[in-house]
Amino acid sequence: MFDRTLETQTPDRVREHQWRRFRAMAGELFATNQFVARKWRAAGVAAAADLRGWDDFRRLPFTKKSELVDDQASHPPFGTNLTYALERYVRVHQTSGTSGAPLRWLDTQESWEWWARCWGFVLRGAGVGPADRVFFPFSFGLFIGFWAGFEGARALGALTIPGGGQDSATRLAWMEALGATVLVCTPSYALHLVEVARERGIDLAKLPVRITVHAGEPGAGIPAVRARIEEGWGARTFDHGGMTEMGGYGYECAEQAGLHVNESEFILEVIDPVTAAPALDGELVLTNLGRVGSPVVRYRTGDHVHLAEGICPCGRTFRRLAGGILGRLDDMLIVRGVNVFPAAIEGVVRRFPTIDEFQIEVFRAGELDEVRVLVELEDAAGVSQVREALRASLGIRLEVAPVPLRSLPRFELKARRVVRR
Ligand SMILES: [Zn+2]
Repeated sequence: MFDRTLETQTPDRVREHQWRRFRAMAGELFATNQFVARKWRAAGVAAAADLRGWDDFRRLPFTKKSELVDDQASHPPFGTNLTYALERYVRVHQTSGTSGAPLRWLDTQESWEWWARCWGFVLRGAGVGPADRVFFPFSFGLFIGFWAGFEGARALGALTIPGGGQDSATRLAWMEALGATVLVCTPSYALHLVEVARERGIDLAKLPVRITVHAGEPGAGIPAVRARIEEGWGARTFDHGGMTEMGGYGYECAEQAGLHVNESEFILEVIDPVTAAPALDGELVLTNLGRVGSPVVRYRTGDHVHLAEGICPCGRTFRRLAGGILGRLDDMLIVRGVNVFPAAIEGVVRRFPTIDEFQIEVFRAGELDEVRVLVELEDAAGVSQVREALRASLGIRLEVAPVPLRSLPRFELKARRVVRR
């Protein structure tokens, strides 16, 4: 089932492999997964045997997060998207609830091993190997991302170092003492550690960390954020794409020419968010193939992506999302008629090395969004430079207001930098 060589196979061979796995999974889902069978029957599929090829696949209904949330609310605590009896499941995790009610998700022994394999693609893509010592500065709670990364690093044969239950300074000391070569955390937290090191006079470039891998937030795909992490750590920074309800589907290679989608484990589609027609630029839709016990078929992720053209210079044929995840479609702000993604604001603010943290305040003025960007910065000249850079990059004037240093929140998990007032 697990075939790394698929990474360099022709698209036809990959499609064939996907179809074989999907078709096998569909038989199981139709028989015992109430959530999936109910949706498919409502869409006119009478039996799994009706699914004969990709045209039939494309007629299957999309899955929306709100359906999963509603299903769990009406069938607590785990909902009906379960293919097996509860005793088959060995782990429970939960989404952060950044966009709506949190979702609980169950994994079986097999799907947990699948998660570790998917993270193998992420870590190997970044150049991590058995000789590495991988540090996870993360308090191990219900959030799945770093648990799965930890398992992936272990499965790869690297030395895994759990860094939960410590403050940032202690974590830095442990990384040094244990000779950590890889750091896995959110991009925000990697930047926070840079800030802590600077305050304590620690030169992070002297630590043996050579690679940082990021999850939990899209920031590492933003060039200015990546450059800042790389400079602070004297390391190469890699992005990764994943979701609790879907799995770790995206990874970068040494070329860093976009986020490869792991097409041996996921079916990739991009659609126009309004018409649902296939598109090059639009909403990311994914189907996972290795989580039969709690699958998601044709999931509308709400993420805005753009498919890269051509084959990656690394030789992998898996398709790429140019620039990674460009933003959440539902996070898009419309400021005086101009579409503005918070990630685009971050891309500008992070170019200013003296700003450690920022926040985007959104005000509703009638039907319109108005935005104020708060930056931790003490000089007025710097503030007007930020204002000018935002205007040059986004094409509109945004209010930029200075706030005292260290007055904005810091985050170990998903940062919440957009605040609606
Ligand atoms: Zn590549």
